[in-house]
Amino acid sequence: MPIYIVLLGPPGAGKGTQAKVLAAEFGLPHISSGDIFRENIRTGTDMGKVAQTFISKGELVPDDVTIAMIQERFSRPDCVAGAILDGFPRTPAQADALDAMLKHFGGRVNLVPFITAPTEVLIERLAGRWTCRAAGHIFHERFNPPQKTGVCDIDGSELYQRDDDKAETVMHRIEVYREQTAPLIDYYKNRGILAEINGFAPIGDVSAHLMEVLKRQAEEE
Ligand code: ADP
Ligand code: ADP
Repeated sequence: MPIYIVLLGPPGAGKGTQAKVLAAEFGLPHISSGDIFRENIRTGTDMGKVAQTFISKGELVPDDVTIAMIQERFSRPDCVAGAILDGFPRTPAQADALDAMLKHFGGRVNLVPFITAPTEVLIERLAGRWTCRAAGHIFHERFNPPQKTGVCDIDGSELYQRDDDKAETVMHRIEVYREQTAPLIDYYKNRGILAEINGFAPIGDVSAHLMEVLKRQAEEE
């Protein structure tokens, strides 16, 4: 049976950081909608041009564009065994579309770790986030610094600060999360697959908690 895990939580909660740990641990692809959008912006595709106008304002990219993009990603063979989804779904319409896509693989959303942290912590994290140009590896200038300033430890590429991580855009992204994405908490809670994870703890502790919850879930299934 394939395993699909959806990481839910506000910007800065640690979804990307933890998704990479889980993907490596379970040998599953890490599917980050934000990373795919940024790659399309970098290479100048038509979809990237549309996405850019929303991302730069801290708005969500419209559902039809986002769903089509994820559908394309799911058409690749590496997704049949499962995936760690980071940043998708972000609206109830996207969650419904995901169910339909997974049904096609004979799968379903198995678990939704909901990672949270206080708003002031989210702001501090995003203000100090450094992202790697080549593969989206994530660092923090204080909480998870690279060995060499400005250089990715993993692939040696340049680290940059995302344009949408500036303070005024971050505040808006958090509001957008509350209005459009937070309804997914009850959506998945009602299905009995939501697992609350305290994201305001050291990175390794959050990973350990996640692994424990995932192992317990696997035993129950
Ligand atoms: P998200 O994908 O939810 O927006 P990230 O994983 O990109 O979050 O993390 C946001 C920033 O916070 C990054 O700079 C990351 O290094 C840092 N970070 C992630 N998890 C923690 C943690 N548990 N403690 C401190 N800093 C963290
Ligand atoms: P973060 O890691 O801080 O949560 P992401 O990298 O996931 O941010 O997303 C960056 C931006 O890309 C979002 O603010 C939004 O504009 C767009 N985006 C990413 N995923 C989605 C989605 N599922 N639906 C709509 N827009 C999205």
